[in-house]
Amino acid sequence: MAILKFEIGPLSTNCYLFVDEKTNEAVVIDPAFETEKLIENIKKVNLKYILLTHAHADHIMAVSLIKELTFAKIVAHKNEAKRLLGDESNLYNALGCYDKPFTAQEVDIFVDDGDKIKFGTKTLSVLHTPGHTDGSLCFVGDGIIFSGDTVFAGSYGRVDFESGSYSNMLDSFHKLFSLEGDYVIYPGHQGSTTLKDERNFNPLSRYV
Ligand SMILES: [Zn+2]
Repeated sequence: MAILKFEIGPLSTNCYLFVDEKTNEAVVIDPAFETEKLIENIKKVNLKYILLTHAHADHIMAVSLIKELTFAKIVAHKNEAKRLLGDESNLYNALGCYDKPFTAQEVDIFVDDGDKIKFGTKTLSVLHTPGHTDGSLCFVGDGIIFSGDTVFAGSYGRVDFESGSYSNMLDSFHKLFSLEGDYVIYPGHQGSTTLKDERNFNPLSRYV
């Protein structure tokens, strides 16, 4: 199993390329920004899907280029569709930190709680985890979770943007903490962590 991490863009967003080494099929999670290194690596694999944990601008600026290069399908929750189409709530204008224009895209495949994403010999299960946005998703694989801006190491994503909700965030943490066993968590910003550590040390754990 190969998970390549690219920390990119003005807000140091984590983009992950998850490659099934048996078949060379892959998915990219949150293609935050066009960098040569990311594009080079994407060209080496058979990219099947572009998975979006949510559609804030700092997670999606390279979606259009990667779609054009690979024809991979864009996968997101239906509540994120308007942001990918350029709605103000994607924070592109609010962040004001990009030197390229935003290119609107349509979601190809809407997913929701319990849906499976299969590529090569791998399967990722979809968890709907609203809180940071109403369409935030976590992608859960064998011992791994791509958590977007829901869980960070020792913290959690902001809940004060459009469609954010603290009570939804608590419910989403409850859902994640209810998974059995331990997982490595790959968040949308900063370093990785484990579900066990977050059950013990995350500031939300006492309320969940
Ligand atoms: Zn975000």
